[in-house]
Amino acid sequence: MTDERAQFPLLSSSVGKAPLVYLDNAATTQKPLCVLEALERYYRRVNANIHRGAHYLSRLATEQHEAARQTVAEFLHAASPREILFTSGTTAGINLVAQVLTSSFKPGDEILTTTDAHHSNIVPWQMLCERTGAVLRPIPLTPELRLDTAAYEQMLNPRTRLVAIPCVSNALGAAHPVQQMTAAAKRNRRDTLVLLDGAQSTAHQAVDVQALGCDFYVFSGHKIYAPTGTGALWGREELLEQLPPWQGGGEMIAEVSFAGTTYNKLPFKYEAGTPNIGGNIVLAEALRYVQRVGLERIAAREQALTRRLYDGLAALDGVQILGAREGRGALVSIVVPGVHHYDLGTLLDHMGIAVRTGHHCCQPLMASLGITGTTRYSLALYNNEDDVERALSATRRALDMLR
Ligand code: PLP
Repeated sequence: MTDERAQFPLLSSSVGKAPLVYLDNAATTQKPLCVLEALERYYRRVNANIHRGAHYLSRLATEQHEAARQTVAEFLHAASPREILFTSGTTAGINLVAQVLTSSFKPGDEILTTTDAHHSNIVPWQMLCERTGAVLRPIPLTPELRLDTAAYEQMLNPRTRLVAIPCVSNALGAAHPVQQMTAAAKRNRRDTLVLLDGAQSTAHQAVDVQALGCDFYVFSGHKIYAPTGTGALWGREELLEQLPPWQGGGEMIAEVSFAGTTYNKLPFKYEAGTPNIGGNIVLAEALRYVQRVGLERIAAREQALTRRLYDGLAALDGVQILGAREGRGALVSIVVPGVHHYDLGTLLDHMGIAVRTGHHCCQPLMASLGITGTTRYSLALYNNEDDVERALSATRRALDMLR
């Protein structure tokens, strides 16, 4: 897959004199030529507002936009494109779900999320609890930093209305057993809803929302080689049919009068206003790119590199890795007692290595571990052995300087 690097122009840039090694892919990925070109092509040749346009460009943009929805549906193995709602990303998808569930919740209902959840999978539920009197409970971690599935099964009870789980933790890298956890939620109560946060998994492993058995699945386009401001929420059709719309405006209506308004059919009921037309079309281009490279190939390659990264970091003096070697996504997070993560990240940057430092939007996790942050190395399909070796030797040098 070394040939794929040539598809990503930014990867051949330098930071000062040091060639760039980009290992901040969990935050956002670089974009391949086909994506860059598709975005330009859209604005050069297609750009028009979609739906109800009498003219050629509007028809063309509408066709491409709805074909993009079909591509997302196929990528996620959704039953129908009516189940695909375009969003600006994972955060927007979770907030949409939290908003439309408001009238379904009552005081005392319980929502479970995970201790290692991203803030975007915590705060919207806290806000839902504030609106409804529901209660948010965190699923604890084991000492090995896996989700404590035994504790989770004990927490499930007749008041559990929603379980929201990241497929892969963005701070720890742990891949969670989401299929089993979804099944357990459904055994508890058939109508316990399950939302899976695919922000850190969609670019790294194949997803089949029907096989997962969940009710909602969210992901961000920019973490899968598409532009920022793109993403999708998948929801089971019968649920989306029953739930109320969220934002009001153009497109989401069937008929508007001052006497009252009726709503559009799926998926448009949830897409008020002009969507990110070009972005959504290009999201489909990015998904096709990933399919061409092949998710199985990507996963095999990234897993091998992740293990090398893990072993190399584990061999460095004083480095503590968060979580076990196996059962992880394409990232490794470290803590070095006596060394501030920000200082390490800054020195690595001077050597051309882009990593992310800090709490990774997981402050409750950091508090539970008694740390303020970590240094996170995260991979994408274009990373290679050389990137990993350069990151390891730079980390060794940086730590020598800092101690
Ligand atoms: N969930 C997880 C697990 C993430 O890693 C992230 C971003 O890093 C998000 C949610 C939020 O994604 P976005 O900022 O693209 O909405």
